[in-house]
Amino acid sequence: MANTVQQEIAKRRTFAIISHPDAGKTTITEKLLLHGKLIQEAGTVKGRKASKHATSDWMELEKQRGISVTTSVMQFPYNGRIVNLLDTPGHEDFSEDTYRTLTAVDSALMVIDSSKGVEDRTIKLMEVCRLRDTPIVTFMNKLDRDIRDPIELLDEVEDVLKIHCAPVTWPIGMGKSFKGVYHLLDDTIHLYQSGLGHTIQEQRIIQGIDNPEAEAALGGLLDDLKEELELVLGASHEFNMEEFLAGRLTPVFFGTALGNFGVSQMLDKFVEWAPAPLPRATQTREVDASEDKFSGFVFKIQANMDPQHRDRIAFLRVCSGHYVKGMKMHHVRLKRDQQISNAVNFIAGEREHLEVAYAGDIIGLHNHGNLQIGDTFTQGEELKFTGIPNFAPELFRRVRLKDPLKNKALQKGLIQLSEEGATQVFRPLNSNDLILGAVGVLQFDVVAHRLKAEYKVECIYEPVAVATARWVGCDDDKIIEKLKNKAGENLALDGGDNLTYLAPTMVNLNLTKERFPEVEFFETREH
Ligand code: GDP
Repeated sequence: MANTVQQEIAKRRTFAIISHPDAGKTTITEKLLLHGKLIQEAGTVKGRKASKHATSDWMELEKQRGISVTTSVMQFPYNGRIVNLLDTPGHEDFSEDTYRTLTAVDSALMVIDSSKGVEDRTIKLMEVCRLRDTPIVTFMNKLDRDIRDPIELLDEVEDVLKIHCAPVTWPIGMGKSFKGVYHLLDDTIHLYQSGLGHTIQEQRIIQGIDNPEAEAALGGLLDDLKEELELVLGASHEFNMEEFLAGRLTPVFFGTALGNFGVSQMLDKFVEWAPAPLPRATQTREVDASEDKFSGFVFKIQANMDPQHRDRIAFLRVCSGHYVKGMKMHHVRLKRDQQISNAVNFIAGEREHLEVAYAGDIIGLHNHGNLQIGDTFTQGEELKFTGIPNFAPELFRRVRLKDPLKNKALQKGLIQLSEEGATQVFRPLNSNDLILGAVGVLQFDVVAHRLKAEYKVECIYEPVAVATARWVGCDDDKIIEKLKNKAGENLALDGGDNLTYLAPTMVNLNLTKERFPEVEFFETREH
């Protein structure tokens, strides 16, 4: 048994896609699912999405705005490996969600629009990946369009993202004259046919760049290719496993997600090179994926995922060992053992009851209000995984009800939605106000929309004089009492009943810090 568990863990490849909106993340995700045989024909993901979303008003908002706000998990087998792809929201107002999802992966696929190059969101997401030196594979997309000079693109990645590039495939032509890619490691030419993007296409492969067939297939482009390759090989880096795993070098593939070309070459190498589940840091020690005992942490919570069930699901990354249905798990923060027999998995968003899961997998736990982002589960050991941030919100609104009788439903809705981590609800100690904090302004719209759709309450927002929030930490109750006396009007409880300081101005915050040196004011809730 132990042996099988180890083998299963070694097969896992858990990753997310990082990209700037419109670079092609959705399109390439769909093609990956096609290669993973989760779908039979591309185009069906959008179709499924559309019909599913119609059942939820909240998704309706997402559709109107043209953004994707959910994180789902997709698992499929490929070349003897089990791939877990964690989807992330593209819109920057949901970046917190994306950051936390990146804490749950072992590698990332960076998709770049080759007509544009490195864009802002990619830069930010790369910074997040760098915090844990996450290995990155790069896909240069949209080769069926007129793109920028590929050598210039590599230079830009190296300069701006500070990571070495090792081209693995190289494009032959671009736009209307895009002919395919040359595989530098195999010395093979893969020929592109347009218009076959919705299926897995049979590709013609020519062995060897000096093969006479190459000349016949590529004509004048072959000489251009040879010239370019000389330049590229002189200027770029060779693939090196150690450098890749340290996050210092990225293998680069070219292709078109829309045309489903170049994707399989990338995926083949991805599953071969990307790391199996990596060790994870806790407050006390590093936990290795191959340890016998189960452990994991919650990196995301989502309320009302399925409008028919009206439940809240916590997404847990298994960090070591394996889960079996009915096992007992220790909830470290609550110091409580729980028997878990109804965990779920998410195969392409479809929820299924889960029998077994291994380190690297993501499982869903039903949340009845006792789970928080960052919570650790073990088989008894008092561990706490670190590095899962909950940022202080930067934008605040007072929430008022249209119908004052629904205050209970409003509180419940705000508290449940703030479990997801994107918004925070604050209840001032000295008033009956409800103050909502968010990191992106779009979050306010989403919350109003979801309150109406999921909790049947209509609310309006009013401006409120809060500049920033800090979680308050102090072991001395007397000092907390003093703080309450002197600055009670600025104190509030968050959704999880943690004491927070809502500062009307930054100057006020600094003054309060000076007056109360014994109190800590935390910018993130991870402490
Ligand atoms: P996301 O915002 O990163 O998820 O991007 P999408 O996958 O939704 O793609 C944005 C737009 O670019 C859509 O209109 C896609 O059809 C288009 N697109 C994606 N990949 C390609 C490609 O390889 N070639 C071309 N020409 N268009 C693409």
